[in-house]
Amino acid sequence: MIKVFQEVEALRAYINAQKVEGNSVGYVPTMGALHEGHLSLINASKKACDITVCSIFVNPTQFDNAEDLEKYPRILDDDQALLESAGCEVLFAPSVAEVYPSGTAAKHEYDFGYIVKVCEGASRTGHFEGVAQVVRRLLEIVEPHSLFMGQKDYQQCMVINKLLEYMQSDTELVICPIIRETDGLAMSSRNRRLSEAERAESAILSESLRWIKNHFRDYSVNDLTAIASMMINKRKHCKTDYIELRHSKTLEMIEDSATADQVVVLAAAYVGPVRLIDNMIVV
Ligand code: AMP
Repeated sequence: MIKVFQEVEALRAYINAQKVEGNSVGYVPTMGALHEGHLSLINASKKACDITVCSIFVNPTQFDNAEDLEKYPRILDDDQALLESAGCEVLFAPSVAEVYPSGTAAKHEYDFGYIVKVCEGASRTGHFEGVAQVVRRLLEIVEPHSLFMGQKDYQQCMVINKLLEYMQSDTELVICPIIRETDGLAMSSRNRRLSEAERAESAILSESLRWIKNHFRDYSVNDLTAIASMMINKRKHCKTDYIELRHSKTLEMIEDSATADQVVVLAAAYVGPVRLIDNMIVV
């Protein structure tokens, strides 16, 4: 049976007892509405660690859009059943008051530099500050040996890497590959909000990234992103927010597609009212 905790103290007591027994702890933080992408992280943790803790917490401080927060899918009973069948040992599902007992104001300030100024950082004010705030709090609660996150949130992984440095944490960050639907759409909890027509068109996001990957040396950076953006915007329900080719380690802009190395393409697009993100390593 999966153990479910809503309270920090009870969870910590359980985890400490596990550590005393010599068990290693893997941790998968999520916002719920779980899908196979999340389960791939659970599986990676189960392979590497003795005990896997999954948290489900829709963190209000990382949303810059009230409607997105309000409409974020919440299906805790289904999630619990899925985690149970995946063999996850612990579910932590705290309230906002439990995570932020003295209010949601940030306690720490970070200078993450350029990596939070572009793409998601530019489009979603305060997003990464909210992510860092909640992940720090959750890491201080769980104190895992390993932390499992998805490449799906590419910049988030970079930010958490820096956060772990700030915290001088011993926790190891393990980044897992993007799990996709058969038509290429990156799995996401927000996909549940797509209508049938929107869902049918949504695969264009990953198709446009793959097109860039396949034609990277054939066009200029400007043409690559302009063409991919057009591919998306031609669809009735789709609208590009950004598509950018950047250095995969620094996120500096790529200038010359003929010679560039270590390139990632990062994108966000609206499909109907739902904002989706995706990325792909190009070279
Ligand atoms: P979320 O519930 O969206 O906050 O995501 C929780 C974790 O699951 C994050 O580390 C995500 O990067 C990861 N994740 C979300 N979607 C996918 C996916 N399609 N493939 C792999 N990991 C994912």
